[in-house]
Amino acid sequence: MRYTRAGQLVLSDSMMKVYQDCGARFWFNYLENPEPELQPRLAAFEFGTVIHSMFYDFFKRRDPDLKMFQSPANFANVFRGRWLNIDSPNRTNRGRSKAAVLWRTPDEKEKLSSLGYKICYDFYQRNIKMPLSHLLVEAYFIVNITNEQNGRGYALQGYIDRLELRQSRLPASFRAEDLGKALKESRPLFNNGEQAGHIMVIDYKSGNKMVPPAALQLDTQFSCYDLAVELLYPAAPRRFAIENVRDGSHIPTNRGDGERQVLRERIFKIGRSIEKEQFPLASNMYKCQNCAFLRQCASLQNVAGRKGIHPEDLMRASSPLVRGPRKAPSLFEWKDGEIVGITDEQRLSQAEKLRHKPTQMSFFFGQEEHEALAEDVSHTAQDTFVETIASPEEWQPDGESTAALEDWNQTQAS
Ligand code: SF4
Repeated sequence: MRYTRAGQLVLSDSMMKVYQDCGARFWFNYLENPEPELQPRLAAFEFGTVIHSMFYDFFKRRDPDLKMFQSPANFANVFRGRWLNIDSPNRTNRGRSKAAVLWRTPDEKEKLSSLGYKICYDFYQRNIKMPLSHLLVEAYFIVNITNEQNGRGYALQGYIDRLELRQSRLPASFRAEDLGKALKESRPLFNNGEQAGHIMVIDYKSGNKMVPPAALQLDTQFSCYDLAVELLYPAAPRRFAIENVRDGSHIPTNRGDGERQVLRERIFKIGRSIEKEQFPLASNMYKCQNCAFLRQCASLQNVAGRKGIHPEDLMRASSPLVRGPRKAPSLFEWKDGEIVGITDEQRLSQAEKLRHKPTQMSFFFGQEEHEALAEDVSHTAQDTFVETIASPEEWQPDGESTAALEDWNQTQAS
């Protein structure tokens, strides 16, 4: 977990979605992280990642003389090369072994190769005339949201797949070093109330099922983008859409004050529960059947049952929410998705003594928590908030190497 220097817990939309789905899954994913090499690599997810990396490289033009930028076929062939090598190397950058990709059918890899080739070929044709100066890709943002009344707050981070300046009269450039130049230069124009076009925020989707527009309207991901873009480009008119990368079609959506309020309440509710180390188990067969931690969760509950300790108390004892690099190794010895031993019996007995009162085995909280949350929410509605873009100096890269932070591609926030 990461904190800003001011001590604000950093959340993202996907982290909050995992937490809302199941608190225990959040704990497994972000705190305990048992045997990461066993985590299944789903073909659809890997496919989306490679497609995103192709689009990113297309606009980044790190080496503009590369053959891949000379024709759509060359570009699509680079995709094919990356995709066919998806199983190798089977090690992460840190030298850990990775699980093999899970193919649903023997020909899935080949089918996705043909699909990806077409997607990249068409993408090249659609975008080769797009001036690099008018867009940003994989734009990173981090926003501080602070309640002025009590100083409490959280930081929200995320990436925007594509940020595009449209209908602008600023000069177009196709040079790699001018990536995002017009966007940056448009900021004072918007501030002065000049007609400088509008900003288009695009999220790529590579799946074959498109999101129904009504569901898209409720998705908080775009509310996060709305907040970040408003802070980065105040006064700029902004529009939002999902781009179906299979055919380049767009599904538009919009955001306003109502969605902003929902987002703020959600951040404060979830952030507060995480800080209180509440990791309620969903224990819902519809959620559990597709959970990547199903075996680990069953094993944890089994140990909890045998020891007579509530699973949440075991979770807190093993991997508590702490600032800074993880202070103690996991309480559990994990092997093939099972707990095969306890690494520290003393910590286990302390967990038993210090245990919190039993919490309900569902997302819904006990009476006391419920009242506390109700109070928080009513405050949230009345209180005033300060929302600011955080600068790199404010980040406290807890549990992260600074090298990892350098990899981040920041939206220019100043
Ligand atoms: S198996 Fe079910 S209860 Fe356990 S972490 Fe996964 S979703 Fe949550």
